[in-house]
Amino acid sequence: MAKQGREWTDILVKRGVIGPDQMREAQAMNHLPVEEALVKLGYAGVDEIMKAKAEQHGMAFIELREIEIPPSVIELVPESLARENIVMPLSQESGAIKVIMHDPNAFETIDKLRFVLNREIEVALAPKEAIVEAINRYYGGSSTETESVDSMLQEFTDTAIDFSEDVGSGKTGSGTIGLEEGDAPVIRLVHLIIQEAVNMRASDIHIEPFADRVRIRYRIDGVCMERDSPPKRLHGSIVSRIKIMGSMDIAEKRRPQDGRIKMHAAGKDIDLRVSVLPTSHGQSVVMRILDRENIKVGLRDLGFGEEDWKRFSGMIKRPNGILLVTGPTGSGKTTTLYAALNELNRPDVKIITAEDPVEYYLPGVNQCEVRAKIGMTFARIIRAMLRQNPNILLVGEIRDEETANTAIQASLTGHLVFSTLHTNDAPSAVTRLVDIGVQPFLVASSVMAIMAQRLVRKVCPKCRVRYEPPAHVLQGIGLKPEIAKKANFMKGKGCTHCNKSGYRGRMGIYELLTMTSQIRDMTFKGDSTQNLRRMARKQGMRTLFEDGMVKALKGLTTIDEIMRITQHDSAAAPTK
Ligand SMILES: [Zn+2]
Repeated sequence: MAKQGREWTDILVKRGVIGPDQMREAQAMNHLPVEEALVKLGYAGVDEIMKAKAEQHGMAFIELREIEIPPSVIELVPESLARENIVMPLSQESGAIKVIMHDPNAFETIDKLRFVLNREIEVALAPKEAIVEAINRYYGGSSTETESVDSMLQEFTDTAIDFSEDVGSGKTGSGTIGLEEGDAPVIRLVHLIIQEAVNMRASDIHIEPFADRVRIRYRIDGVCMERDSPPKRLHGSIVSRIKIMGSMDIAEKRRPQDGRIKMHAAGKDIDLRVSVLPTSHGQSVVMRILDRENIKVGLRDLGFGEEDWKRFSGMIKRPNGILLVTGPTGSGKTTTLYAALNELNRPDVKIITAEDPVEYYLPGVNQCEVRAKIGMTFARIIRAMLRQNPNILLVGEIRDEETANTAIQASLTGHLVFSTLHTNDAPSAVTRLVDIGVQPFLVASSVMAIMAQRLVRKVCPKCRVRYEPPAHVLQGIGLKPEIAKKANFMKGKGCTHCNKSGYRGRMGIYELLTMTSQIRDMTFKGDSTQNLRRMARKQGMRTLFEDGMVKALKGLTTIDEIMRITQHDSAAAPTK
């Protein structure tokens, strides 16, 4: 290796990024290259290492996330070349192309680029992860749009090319990313799958291996829909491709892994949270699609009835107290709280959140991520937040006594606190807080309202028709004939707009319990959930089931849908 001045390892020590002992410790880890060892030990970050290498080689270090590369420059290097060699074009000057690479000593690659592009090549450096991310960002959306997942799968089924894992990552020895020529169709397939899922408004993509096939499913409006099954031989290559995109370790197949993909597909920037889990038939992948459009919701978009909307929007304008939203995972609690924050987010209001994890970034809001491993728990973040003098706190979830008590303390010292709890209905939240160890008088004096919610699918507006539910169904839900007569029941016949499901989009159904003086009293005395529920209903609380039925009567959703979503509670549903 040509030495120009000092080694990057010396530069890191000289700069004080790491101590000489730490460097020796990393160098002693023989099974790993020194840079990987440093990262693994937590002594240096990939950026710091790359900056030191840049200095050693007299090259520029590029912050890829902070620059914008013009399309005219991107066009100079074809996508396949960029992906195969993990390079990004940066600029062109007097006939030369400046490219960003992660290995300053990859002379073969530089020669290859010089030959293929027929230009002089200059090199700048950035970490590999940042380059892969940039390739996905800049090239992600530009694949040929006429292709569909179906036609790709057909192609795979017709051809006898073996895409089994040994071949996919074979002929290596290099140990680097397995982007081989034979993988190109898989790259396109994975891109098309993601694109199709986004186009169909899916919230997540499931790729599950079975003995003889791979099942691909999209979750749309909360319901899983099965796609075609690619042959099992493609499984390994598909998973490897996704792992590469998510900057995960493709060699690690026995432990669960998480990753994140940022890409451009179907005309928008999307963020995917990827989780890979080993199962008996191979690695199962779930990709959660985080669509930024989801957070641009206002309270009006949530589907509140007029009365609930008035009460809820009045509540969130109070200066202090706790507002709890409850429901199982996927019931839209976070969306409701974000809608509330959007309503309250003004320059003169300071909002801080503690979330696990932070999924969407809200402009103007200070968001902290819970990291229990290093002791950054909800409770600890809340205590730190309070020193920053906020007006409003959002605590992602109350799971334990410490978090509950810290949140209550915050509300009693003049802060408005939003949080969520995992309970089926609103009255149970009171008992849950007491069960995890909060004193009843503290619950009574701090909580101002509890809202339980679920998401139900909306009838597709393009194919909906008037509909009379059969008499036994109406009887079963206890609907009086005179009310049923005035109702405007609708159902979707199924069309292309709704993927033949008859539903498109979702709305919330709500159960809003206000802590009135009577309910505070009962809470203080430790009254039962049933009694709390009875009192709340007497004072006008509409149950989830009732709110859903009101929406079904208006033709916004269907009785079937309300039954499907509230079936656990419907046994306790009122019959009047
Ligand atoms: Zn339709």
